[in-house]
Amino acid sequence: MGRSLAVVGLGPRGLYALECFAAQLNLQESTDQWLLTLFNDSEYPGAGPNYAPDQSALNLLNIPGREVPLPRRPSTSGRVSIPEFPGYLEWQDEFSVVDRLGYDVFPTRASIGRYLHARFNSWLEAWQSSHEFTLVERAVMSLDTSDDYVVLVDGAGKRYAKLTDVIFTIGHQPETDDDSMVSWERFAKGSTDCHLVKHPYPTKQFTKPEIFTNRAVAVRGLGLSMIDTVKALTEGRGGSFKEKAGERLAFEYTPSGREPSQILPFSLDGLPMAPKPANEAIDLQFALESSEQTLLVDVLSSHQELHDGQHLRELIIDTMAELCANVYIRLGAKCLTMDESQEEVVRIVKKWFQDESFQHVGIVSHKICTHAALKVFMAMATGHALVSIDYCAGQVWRQCQKMFYRELAFAREERTFLAPFIKLDQRMKRYAFGPPVDSVARQLALENAGLVRFSVAEDPVIRPDDNHWILIGRDDKVVADVMIDTVQASPALKRTTSDIVASLVHDNLLESINDVLGAKTQRDGRIPIDHRAQSKVSIAFVGRLAIGNVIEADALMECFGPALESWATSLVSNKRPAH
Ligand SMILES: Cc1cc2nc3c(=O)[nH]c(=O)nc-3n(C[C@H](O)[C@H](O)[C@H](O)COP(=O)(O)OP(=O)(O)OC[C@H]3O[C@@H](n4cnc5c(N)ncnc54)[C@H](O)[C@@H]3O)c2cc1C
Repeated sequence: MGRSLAVVGLGPRGLYALECFAAQLNLQESTDQWLLTLFNDSEYPGAGPNYAPDQSALNLLNIPGREVPLPRRPSTSGRVSIPEFPGYLEWQDEFSVVDRLGYDVFPTRASIGRYLHARFNSWLEAWQSSHEFTLVERAVMSLDTSDDYVVLVDGAGKRYAKLTDVIFTIGHQPETDDDSMVSWERFAKGSTDCHLVKHPYPTKQFTKPEIFTNRAVAVRGLGLSMIDTVKALTEGRGGSFKEKAGERLAFEYTPSGREPSQILPFSLDGLPMAPKPANEAIDLQFALESSEQTLLVDVLSSHQELHDGQHLRELIIDTMAELCANVYIRLGAKCLTMDESQEEVVRIVKKWFQDESFQHVGIVSHKICTHAALKVFMAMATGHALVSIDYCAGQVWRQCQKMFYRELAFAREERTFLAPFIKLDQRMKRYAFGPPVDSVARQLALENAGLVRFSVAEDPVIRPDDNHWILIGRDDKVVADVMIDTVQASPALKRTTSDIVASLVHDNLLESINDVLGAKTQRDGRIPIDHRAQSKVSIAFVGRLAIGNVIEADALMECFGPALESWATSLVSNKRPAH
């Protein structure tokens, strides 16, 4: 039987889809004849734009080298021979995982991209020695389906017919502008001096043009992309950091003279991300004991007995409050508050999980300024300050994420079941997905140098005025001539504007779980097309726009996971009905 598979999108997920496909062809000794068509509209297949090897070396992965989730690819042979490929740490020779201070080194995203691109090339070279393939370096814009085949249409209008199986691994897609963006764009278009940057990547766009020199630049977002943007506007424009003598992680910034006059980051809540623990020893303080891990897995796997998603969220909050309190009490003399009993800590953590604005002396207050919050989190991350309850709970949460993601994937038929918990997990990313301490130390040095200013960081009122924007915060008022949006697109299918997603929605192939989550899919990634009982085609859709079926699909650790293994297993084992 002849089958024709199209893989649309060759980022990390597209790469792993190919690897799983080849492994299954051999494992299941498939007798089908497979034709392969690969589509990708960015430059480095395997890496995708987020790990483009030619991006600035200032852009770091948010995972320490010792934890990079890119293990060895085992060799496979039979229908197709694919060689082994080393894991990232074995492959790279650019850095050691710990620096001279004993702190974790975080790889550059460019280095991760070089690895992924090389791993892709090694796969393709092996595949093409025994099988044909076509690589189309254009975007897929739309599709037509019949009961027998799928037709994909690319950006040049070319049609790729007779496809029997398609998987979309298309990652980030553009989304509708929100009201603020619409009004900023209108204003910038009508102004002679104001400049709006709607997307911060590639950050090289910030290093050259003179439009940034001596201009006041407002930056929407306080997340990882803001950090990349600020680095590009400073070090990327020729400035340099020098470590202060005798002080760990304290820098002095020497400007090049080509920087903006001021950089003004802001967000809706003004809350910065907490840096990751500086090294393994500090990190291990937040680890659960194996009996505690077993307890958590047991609780998570009992989800079938629960009434609804709200109960799931409450059950996890109760369990995590107990576990976080255990870890906090084990910190002993290192914890910020020592007067509370275990029961009291459980109560505090629980309240804080339920309500982010809950205040307590053991929790870093939302009322302190962004600068002070960054400083105190940095001191905790390096073991130089007593650990607050929220920082502790955030790090315990990080260590449990893999268990949440594995145990709760496709937990229920009704996909909104996971929604309340996903909201909490997204909130906890402020602690769990934080940057390296080194990046935070540099931000603070830029603030000391008067370049970065957090005085309007918390939900400023923003008004256009003549030829600039005025940002009014609680205690300060500033003007900006440039506005950069660093907030990443949400994974909400309903907000996505790309042609291919519109086409899938139009054909009733994709259906949103709700207003803020992705599309409904099956455990093997396939889109349910039950309404077409005659259909012989399989169409799968995985990644960030399928969040809701799973808790998380964005992080690198989830790209090389069970979702694609399960897709490949059912792809190869599901014979096409012959009618
Ligand atoms: C700037 C940035 C930094 C990040 N940093 C980290 C990090 O440090 N750590 C972490 O864990 N996660 C990080 N992430 C999360 C990131 O989403 C994942 O790690 C990973 O890139 C997801 O892989 P993917 O293959 O699903 O999607 P992508 O990497 O987005 O790849 C999708 C591919 O599909 C192609 N494509 C899209 N549409 C079409 C189409 N219509 N036709 C043909 N091809 C198409 C794209 O060109 C791309 O090559 C980051 C994300 C961003 C945006």
